[in-house]
Amino acid sequence: MRNSPDISVVVPAFNEEELIERSIMRFLDSLSAQRRSFELIVVNDGSRDRTGALLDRLAADEPRLRVIHFARNFGQTAAMMAGFLAARGEAVVALDADGQNEPDEVEKLVDRLDDGFDVVSGWRRDRKDSWLRTRVSRVANWIIGKITGVKLHDYGCTLKAYRAHVVRDARLFGEMHRFIPVFTTMHGARIDEMVVRHHPRTAGQSKYGYGRVMRVALDMALVRMLQRYSTKPLHFFGKITQYAWLGTLACFGFAGLQAIYSADPWKAFWGKAPLVGVILFVLGFIAIMSGLVAELVMRAGYEPVGGQYWEVARATNFDANAEATQPRTASIERLVPSAPLRERSPTSIS
Ligand code: UDP
Ligand code: MG
Repeated sequence: MRNSPDISVVVPAFNEEELIERSIMRFLDSLSAQRRSFELIVVNDGSRDRTGALLDRLAADEPRLRVIHFARNFGQTAAMMAGFLAARGEAVVALDADGQNEPDEVEKLVDRLDDGFDVVSGWRRDRKDSWLRTRVSRVANWIIGKITGVKLHDYGCTLKAYRAHVVRDARLFGEMHRFIPVFTTMHGARIDEMVVRHHPRTAGQSKYGYGRVMRVALDMALVRMLQRYSTKPLHFFGKITQYAWLGTLACFGFAGLQAIYSADPWKAFWGKAPLVGVILFVLGFIAIMSGLVAELVMRAGYEPVGGQYWEVARATNFDANAEATQPRTASIERLVPSAPLRERSPTSIS
């Protein structure tokens, strides 16, 4: 007898009382008609309206519906991660609670996982949001693809299917749910994209405005840094030092030339250029020092897993339990599979 479902559908929900019942009924209907067994995990992200009560009422006579209630609003990223960690299925699919995603598409995306992909990303080609939002998001997707090298048409679409382990290994904070595909590629995931249907929001409000544009830009910078420098932060900060000190040289060179061609060399030399040069020198010095501190922090971060930052996918002619080939030990959660945080002690991690 198996007690884990084939797929886990994860739904973050925050203040969606107007449409949560309708969405959940629709998801249950649609998923019941599909081939695979499922569980529906809704994470109530600290809603201050009736969302939580409505969910509990629905869950009372539907065991496949499981609800996690956050103590307060922690954001969509936290809600999705909590759902991913609670998921028991081999495949995990995320959906918005507002009914904008089409649940009938779940089967198609999971079929594609079976073709050997780790992530299948939904693409709302015919998107039912405002004209401006759709355009802004198109440009943003293009830029994210250029900068991260992970080219997708629709990062913002929540409807995506994942092999369970790739999302469990992702470490997401803030609003990084938008960059899940990039994080999964950092763990070696193979990604594909499929066009999915999209519906307009029929009630309630979008939780995000155009203020997100700046936040996405900041997050993109962080993602790029993590992609390239997370195990060698000194090289990132050292680059800043490099440019700052080149600036110092240029400033002093310029001041030297001014002095040579001036009637009063000393006065010419002590103009503005050397001052700027000194400021740049100090900046470069601070950057190097920050880089050295970042190196210490990074090393301390990997200490619980013995400094192992690489992940082994598989090994040939090795004993299944060989220490050196344990898959994905870079993640602490793997070593302590299901112990809740407060039960963890330092010794249980060694
Ligand atoms: N959401 C959440 N916590 C938040 C904000 C949003 O769980 O702090 C949920 C929300 O209920 C919805 C999904 O995340 O199910 C996407 O939010 P929304 O529909 O407002 O975003 P949009 O589709 O407008 O980008
Ligand atoms: Mg929405």
